[in-house]
Amino acid sequence: MNVLVINCGSSSLKYQLVDMKDESVLVKGLVERIGIEGARIKHETTGKEEVIIEEPMKDHKKALELVLDAVIDKDYGAIKSMDEIGAVGHRVVHGGEVFSGSVIIDEKVMQALEDCIELAPLHNPPNIMGIEACKALMPETPMVGVFDTAFHQTIPAENYIYPLPYKYYEDYKVRRYGFHGTSHKYVSKRAAEILNKDIKDLNIVTCHLGNGSSVTAVEGGKSIDTSMGFTPLEGLVMGTRSGDIDPAIIPFIMEKENIDFHEVNNILNKKSGVLGISGISSDFRDLEIAANEGNERAKLALDVFCNRVTKYIAAYSAQMCSIDVLVFTAGIGENSDTIREGICDGLECLNIIIDPELNKTRGKEAIISKNIGGVTIMVIPTNEELMIARDTLNLVKNI
Ligand code: AMP
Repeated sequence: MNVLVINCGSSSLKYQLVDMKDESVLVKGLVERIGIEGARIKHETTGKEEVIIEEPMKDHKKALELVLDAVIDKDYGAIKSMDEIGAVGHRVVHGGEVFSGSVIIDEKVMQALEDCIELAPLHNPPNIMGIEACKALMPETPMVGVFDTAFHQTIPAENYIYPLPYKYYEDYKVRRYGFHGTSHKYVSKRAAEILNKDIKDLNIVTCHLGNGSSVTAVEGGKSIDTSMGFTPLEGLVMGTRSGDIDPAIIPFIMEKENIDFHEVNNILNKKSGVLGISGISSDFRDLEIAANEGNERAKLALDVFCNRVTKYIAAYSAQMCSIDVLVFTAGIGENSDTIREGICDGLECLNIIIDPELNKTRGKEAIISKNIGGVTIMVIPTNEELMIARDTLNLVKNI
């Protein structure tokens, strides 16, 4: 069966068509600037040249219509007709407390997704638009929702309850949800597979370090704690997000700068993190170059980033008593040997010892720890699309 994987942002749409016979990617692409002037699709069928399709797209439905045309195009497509798409898997950011796993999308699920909008006002509406567009264009094709939050629904209450008046949890569902769940699940499972161990016997810390970053404690295959919280703002220092700060800073800055909560929210999400500290960039490649050229604030931003990750790894090691495996994934985790080294520097006391030679790896699966019986440190490229495709196949194969 071919599964189409869809990941909709507010003005973007990422897609992949996966042949589940051998899990090969037939087509992948990215639509940008939906609803904005200059909309375009970057479309690539495996074995063929990438094509750019430029056409106005007023909404996600139009974008998806063009994507499906491209997928079945006789020159640059991969299949002959839409009938060859057996199911669609949708990435959905927030499943609240309702979804602890992936689900076949029906009317009840759509209602539950609507109910989660207030928990993820920026993310869930475009996800819902993508599902609606697919339903309109492929009404007979089964669809599955795969949630970023679902993997973290095993986190125990002592790790998800905030020390606030309990009624905020009861009335408004204010609690830790965690994100990047599909990625943390994929790399933790993959680590166990590579090591030929049963995941039930492993304590793993997974570090998803990209534009958004989070660390998860995975005990016996289950998430028991994660650094992102009620929203993806908590936890690590990120490209433009602050991560953990003293909450008293917020009213202090609001008063000093005479700004309202919209503005302070924007500062915490878009102007903070390594961009805020360095004043240069949110991209770690730019920061590494600047730091190497002697820019002190770029160096400071990278040091603050690494220290925060180190702290979470140590905390999660303590929560699980000890860890067997430490995994690095996503843009920074897969590619930056200096950041991986900076993070592990100081964790020797926990038997986390990186091998500088093995660490000189990029973008592929590798073991990078010194082979002296300590924690196995691994680089594992994430593959959220494959995870979504697998969940989709598992759910639809029996209907
Ligand atoms: P992601 O959100 O997983 O796509 O990660 C994107 C981020 O990965 C970029 O913003 C960069 O900061 C970082 N990144 C990608 N390639 C490299 C690299 N070679 N070295 C350092 N950072 C990188």
